Amino acid sequence: MAATVYSAAVMGIDAELITVETRISPGVQYFIIGLPGESVKESLFRVESAIESAGLHMPRQKVLINMGPAGLRKEGAGFDLPIAISILAASGQLDLDLDKTLFAGELSLNGYLRPVRGAIAITLKARKAGFDTLILPTENSPEAAIVSGIKVYGLATLQEVIACLRRPSDFELSLPPTGKEKVGIQPLPKLDFADISGQQKIKRAMEISAAGGHNILLIGPPGSGKTMIANRLPGIMPKLTTEEALETTKIYSVASRSDQVFFESCRPFRKPHHTASDIAMVGGGSPLMPGEISLAHNGILFLDELPEFRKAVLESLRQPLEAKTITISRASYNADLPADFLLAAAMNPCPCGYFKHPGRKCSCSPESIRRYLQKISGPLLDRIDLQVKVPPVAYTAQQPILKIDTSATIAKRVLTTLERQIRRQGVQNASLAPELIKKHCSLAPAEHELFLTVLQKHQLSARSHDRILKVARTIADMAGSENIGLLHLSEAISLRCLDQDYFQ
Ligand SMILES: [Zn+2]
Repeated sequence: MAATVYSAAVMGIDAELITVETRISPGVQYFIIGLPGESVKESLFRVESAIESAGLHMPRQKVLINMGPAGLRKEGAGFDLPIAISILAASGQLDLDLDKTLFAGELSLNGYLRPVRGAIAITLKARKAGFDTLILPTENSPEAAIVSGIKVYGLATLQEVIACLRRPSDFELSLPPTGKEKVGIQPLPKLDFADISGQQKIKRAMEISAAGGHNILLIGPPGSGKTMIANRLPGIMPKLTTEEALETTKIYSVASRSDQVFFESCRPFRKPHHTASDIAMVGGGSPLMPGEISLAHNGILFLDELPEFRKAVLESLRQPLEAKTITISRASYNADLPADFLLAAAMNPCPCGYFKHPGRKCSCSPESIRRYLQKISGPLLDRIDLQVKVPPVAYTAQQPILKIDTSATIAKRVLTTLERQIRRQGVQNASLAPELIKKHCSLAPAEHELFLTVLQKHQLSARSHDRILKVARTIADMAGSENIGLLHLSEAISLRCLDQDYFQ
């Protein structure tokens, strides 16, 4: 007697279809073949105990389980449920059509279902492969139910699964999270730009960053409010689109963070500590877990105290900053994870923090300052369009400001500017390819002349040239201007302080 049951395995952030075939014949031994990992080999012990807890019986015959495709290593305990169902079907204890149902779930010895990782990826795969029903553990069902077009049952025990297969009408379909659960990651305390008086130039730089998708580095002495300002960046970015929300939630679901659902929420905001390892930052391990840069996908990665991060960790950001994905290769897998994030970073100008401070003396040697700044120089800096000097709070002009913009007001402007860019060129200004920079960021002869003079005077590189043009394009877009004017250009130049003030 034989039966085939379907499941799925998470690979990277997607899932692959897995078949579980069981053949029962005279004999006494149990086997699993088809490249099972250790946890899958142990599955039979859990399955036997769970089947008996459910009041059914494990056949005292030769039970051969073949998992396909044979070339793919199967890891994790999520195949317990499909293996159990397959054994019950092959032994004639479950005489049902199982071709349109996909199963995933770990079993405890007494038959309870335990959650699996990557339920959204599994559900998307099931739908794509034409299954009409998905059965998985209760804990996973709200995230799975986010995916429309497939029936999802979240169940608590093997017994319930059997009952549900026999009479689905007795069970309710799972629903996506609603109401209070529908919050974003790390539900941000009500952080608003209106709480910050002064620092107009920095707030403006944050708005430019959010509107054009420009990576930003804030550089200034301790206590100047860099972190406070950066923490408010998510509040001015446009909300996630439905597609982005599904993509981001899928990554969290693979990372076993299914409590994080991103619908109708602000963008993810990740703030790893500077002691983070490169695996924590870019992902890896076995099973493969997404790193901070993938958890920040469609959102913001904020690196406070940038030069304190390990050099290797900072270097590992170069590929994803350019490609917006990260390729992770290990002996057992090869995966591309999405990593399209806005990089925001903050740093002191020197180890003591007071280099070029208007009122305090820096105690660092020129050599130690050079070493400190060099930690982030080069290719990484090249990918940061905005490098903004944050003045100490006491020294910012405290003009009486009649009205301070709230984050909501700024967010509205950011959205308008974003839509303008998408209409014109399909991408944000920061992502413009070189040939499109020529097309969309051209300067009139007078502006061009001045630009070249400034570049020469500050010995700015060819890369800086393009970066400044893209930022000027965003500033012009914020002003609703077709062309990049002198004012837009000079403001963009003033937002490259590292080139001009520190690395000379
Ligand atoms: Zn110093």
